Amino acid sequence: MSNQKNSNDVRRREFLKTAGLCGVALCGLNSCTAARIQKGEAGPEPSCTHLTVRPYQLLCIVCAIGEGGIEKCDKRLGEIVRVIRNNPDIPVTVNCNAGDVYVYQDPGVAEDCDGSAEFNRRRDMEILQRLDLAPGATHPARILLALLFKRITGVSGICGFDKITSDAWKGCPKATSGNFERGCKQGLQMIIPPRGEEEMVREKEASVKTLYETKEIKVRPHILVCSVCQYGGGTRPPFKPDNLPEMVDLILTRKPDIPITLVKGADWMMCGPCPSRVARLNACVCGPIKSGGLYNEMKDLNVLQRTGLTYGSSMKACDLYKLILERVPDTQGVCALPVDGKPPYSIWFDPCGDKKHPNYDKGREQLLPKFTALTSKMK
Ligand code: SF4
Ligand code: SF4
Repeated sequence: MSNQKNSNDVRRREFLKTAGLCGVALCGLNSCTAARIQKGEAGPEPSCTHLTVRPYQLLCIVCAIGEGGIEKCDKRLGEIVRVIRNNPDIPVTVNCNAGDVYVYQDPGVAEDCDGSAEFNRRRDMEILQRLDLAPGATHPARILLALLFKRITGVSGICGFDKITSDAWKGCPKATSGNFERGCKQGLQMIIPPRGEEEMVREKEASVKTLYETKEIKVRPHILVCSVCQYGGGTRPPFKPDNLPEMVDLILTRKPDIPITLVKGADWMMCGPCPSRVARLNACVCGPIKSGGLYNEMKDLNVLQRTGLTYGSSMKACDLYKLILERVPDTQGVCALPVDGKPPYSIWFDPCGDKKHPNYDKGREQLLPKFTALTSKMK
């Protein structure tokens, strides 16, 4: 028995060490902060680089919002919110006492509350089961919270039960308060505010100005396909959320031979004004649960594979468009990723997936002869 306990402890310590948590018995943050919290000196600092939480603590943050605002959070939850607001894409690990083959990540009972160890164990597991996450899963905070708001709209059956079977299972006194449900209605923006309107307007002006003056356009590969879709749908400049229509117009009317260089991520020149752009990371957080950066990277790589190009490849704009239009006859499997029965809350669920894109077909039909003519003219 004690041998088994020791080997479980070792596995758990190894997991925490690998996760950069250095044996945090308390639900972990980074190592230095965790040590200070254990001493009761502080909560996580805005500079910390990795949070570890119990699943129920994420729900309690929503509950506090419904009760009257983030100020209603206790010290620890308030600090977690402060860290996430400071860095909405900080990796967050959700650990729970799951045992069995997941024992390596069990956090222990130090942060249990509202009842028996069994109630706490079940509450965390119920949450992870609803989120379809494994114990110990790590995701950017923004994605984890977006998933939570999509999948959990009430705490009945999680934090409390219609029928109390014993003291061990009486649950949290706030479970029937309606706080959580009210917090849900206020949504993710209460924790992670969206990009400011003024900033996006400023970025639109600055990035379009740069586009018109530049000697080299930088763009991530798959949005060249998006630009064809937009063109087929009749989108023309000015276009508020991105600079693709401005770019297509520039190439068709003034600079057909300007070089386009294919780059990684949500590059500023095209994506600067987009509500889904995270400037600090050059990242894209579009999609139902903000995981668009992941499937968009896949789309970029699909376009590169179809065209035989790589990141860093540079070509005359008209030649590149002609190549893409020839090699991508339709969006299926390139920009429309297979859904394969994935639910809309899957991090891989692509809203463009598994459907026809008649605007692409139309845009391709309109643009291929134009770029073919420009290519011949440039020779
Ligand atoms: S009901 Fe209690 S345990 Fe559940 S989210 Fe609200 S405060 Fe947290
Ligand atoms: S940030 Fe994302 S959604 Fe916005 S234009 Fe760029 S790739 Fe598209």
